[in-house]
Amino acid sequence: RLIVFEGVEGCGKTTQLQRSHQWLKSSLSVIVTREPGGTHLGSELRQLLLTTPKQPICNSTELLLYAADRAQHVEEVLKPELANGMMILCDRYVDSTMAYQGYGRGLSRSLIEQLNNIATGGLESDLTLWLDIDVTVSLARKQQGASGGDRIEQEKIDFHRRVQQGYTELAQANPQRIVRIDASCNEAEVQKQIQQILLQRFPE
Ligand code: C5P
Ligand code: MG
Repeated sequence: RLIVFEGVEGCGKTTQLQRSHQWLKSSLSVIVTREPGGTHLGSELRQLLLTTPKQPICNSTELLLYAADRAQHVEEVLKPELANGMMILCDRYVDSTMAYQGYGRGLSRSLIEQLNNIATGGLESDLTLWLDIDVTVSLARKQQGASGGDRIEQEKIDFHRRVQQGYTELAQANPQRIVRIDASCNEAEVQKQIQQILLQRFPE
């Protein structure tokens, strides 16, 4: 089973993914991975994508680099691990590309859909947990961290609002696959919501 965690910067998905992993691993074979950066090649691409380069990265270049990361990740990690019967918790997947490069950057959504299909070979998540939070709140959380933010986190608030709008529309369009989690409450409460959904969806 492939379970994906999605949401804007600072929504808490990495924390929640780790907590879910802790919770699940006593009873299941489960691994954690992420995009970008779930493979060796991917971690090099992640480095390229998240540091601020001397010359700006073009939007279409950015799109193709995320797609390249995904293609490698699907073939090298997701497909083989699913075939091994593993449950996979993945930090970001196809909806990130639609939200960030489609809604955020304004690139063609039908083109992104095609590209996602090429990169995934049609592999869809069994469940996508969308951690929904007001972007002003989540960006403030990020700013409390020391890093100052990666290349994308430094984008203007309007960019993040468009990304958020993207997730909202994607969730409306895919009510079966995407489940909204209220990520504005505290860590333990968010985790409780996630566990409830997982128990409902995968009772075995
Ligand atoms: O989830 P995480 O913060 O590790 O993602 C790394 C960065 O890549 C984030 O700043 C995220 O906004 C960005 N990203 C993106 N487009 C994607 C996937 C991630 O801009 N398709
Ligand atoms: Mg980040």
